[in-house]
Order: sequence, then C-alpha cells, then structure tokens
Amino acid sequence: MASTIAGRAQAAYLGLAIGDALGATVEFLTPNEIRHQHGIHREISGGGWLRLKSGQVTDDTTMSLALGRAILDNGGRVEALAAAQAFDAWMRAKPVDIGNTVRRNLVTFRHSGNPQAPPSEHDAGNGAAMRVLPIALATLGQPDEIVGVAVRAQAHVTHHNALSDAACDTLVAMIQAALEKVGASGTAQDLKHFATSLVARHPQFAFEGRRRENPSGYIVETIQAVFQAFFGTDHFEACLIDVVNRGGDADTTGAICGMLAGACYGLDAIPPRWSNALDASIRAVCLTQARALVAA
Ligand code: MG
Ligand code: MG
Repeated sequence: MASTIAGRAQAAYLGLAIGDALGATVEFLTPNEIRHQHGIHREISGGGWLRLKSGQVTDDTTMSLALGRAILDNGGRVEALAAAQAFDAWMRAKPVDIGNTVRRNLVTFRHSGNPQAPPSEHDAGNGAAMRVLPIALATLGQPDEIVGVAVRAQAHVTHHNALSDAACDTLVAMIQAALEKVGASGTAQDLKHFATSLVARHPQFAFEGRRRENPSGYIVETIQAVFQAFFGTDHFEACLIDVVNRGGDADTTGAICGMLAGACYGLDAIPPRWSNALDASIRAVCLTQARALVAA
C-alpha cells in the first residue's frame, strides 16, 4: 500500500493532520518556551493556546477537508466559487481557529459574491499554502497550466499574492513529484530542485544558512522553516519534530511538513502512536478523501 500513489496520498493527508495536531500544542511559543515546558515536544497531546483535546486538529486540516469535499462534490473539478462557498460554510460552523486574512476575505466574499480576493501585497500569509493538498491530489497528472489555474482558483479566495502563489505552486509540484516518485530514491533530496527554483525566482525564500526559528505566518518564514526541516532530515518523524520545535506558527509548519513528508516517505513511515492519537473521525475522513481525490 505504502508504495502506491493512493497510499502516499493517504500518508500526505495523515501527515497534514498529524503535523497540525502536533504543532498546535506549541503554536506561538518560542523554541525556549517549548524547551522549558516540554523538553523536546514529540507527542500529540492537545492543549496549547487553543486548549485543544488531544488529537484535535485546527483550521489547516479542516479547511483542507472542506476544500477536498467541494472538489469531490464538483466531480473532481477545482472551481473558485465552490471553494469559496465551502470555506464560507466552514467559517459559519465556528471553527476552532481562523486566520485574519481568511476571515476578512471570506466576509468580503459574503457581500460581493466574487470568489477571488483583490490582489494584495499584504496578503502574503501562509493560509492558502496550508490547504494546497487537495489541489495536488485532484490535479495529479494534469498539464502544468491546468494545475496552475487550479492552484490559483483555491488560493485567491483568501490570498491573492505573488509570494503565496509561488509557494503554493512549489508545494503542489513537490507533492505531485513525490506521489509519482519522480526521483527514484524516494528521499527529500529528490525534491530539492523545486525549492532551489523557487528561491531563484523569489530570493526572499532563501532557506540555506541561518536557522529559521519562531517562524511567523508570513509565507516566506513558514516555507524557510519547512524546507530546513524537510531537507535537513531523512524521515517523517524527525522532520515533524524538527519543525514544530521551532515554535511560531507550528501547527502550520507542522501541517505543511506533514504533507510533504507523508507524500515522500509513505504510510509505513508514519509512527503508529501519532496516527492512533489523531481524532478518529478526522483520521477516517483524511484516508477516504485522499483516496477519492486521487481516483477522481
Ligand atoms: Mg491552525
Ligand atoms: Mg497556524
């Protein structure tokens, strides 16, 4: 199973939820505060500023699931209006957390009916990047142009920004290459050229050098922490422990590292104690949605 595309898609979805649940405990703490409170944070235990139950996930996972559901209900097609309506319904259900840019642009959508937010150089948060996984699965094997249109259709509902777009494109390309095992060794290093190419186009994302700790929700800092952890480790567990112990927007760096590492290393690499700790209904939806999106 782990070696099939569907298996790696499921691992990416579980990775997203596991990284979110693991990181949420230490979201907005500094690395020093984490060391003081947890030593090395390595267990899914709930708590954090959101006072989560153990295994509970946050917006990173639930927005992704809402988007994936909308794509499946739409026959596998990615459409901006369907995505915006799904996110709006998600917001009405009073999620445990919601980003400022997401809230502002969904409120605007409610009034305007236009599912595309206006371009803004300020909307360079990580809120679109954290939910790219359903797009990567739904457009697997399609031409780059179609993938790019789908990436923007979902991203621009809340984040219409060139840096966010560049990060979303890169993450989708990495996930798709990992699922298709482009680069036969099956390691993170197979995917490094996508990161290098992102930095060549947008030098702000340069990630080699100074350790990125306490990453904010700014997409550049988020991606720097994610790439340092992903390329600096060689298995799923080490990657997630590395990134969440950097603190800051740890549920989101955890979620993004989780989808990359899951796609790259497969189901067998996910520690059973983390899978088992995840909220059971979330785990079940992740597994069925991943399989359905790849098939759609
Ligand atoms: Mg969150
Ligand atoms: Mg977050």
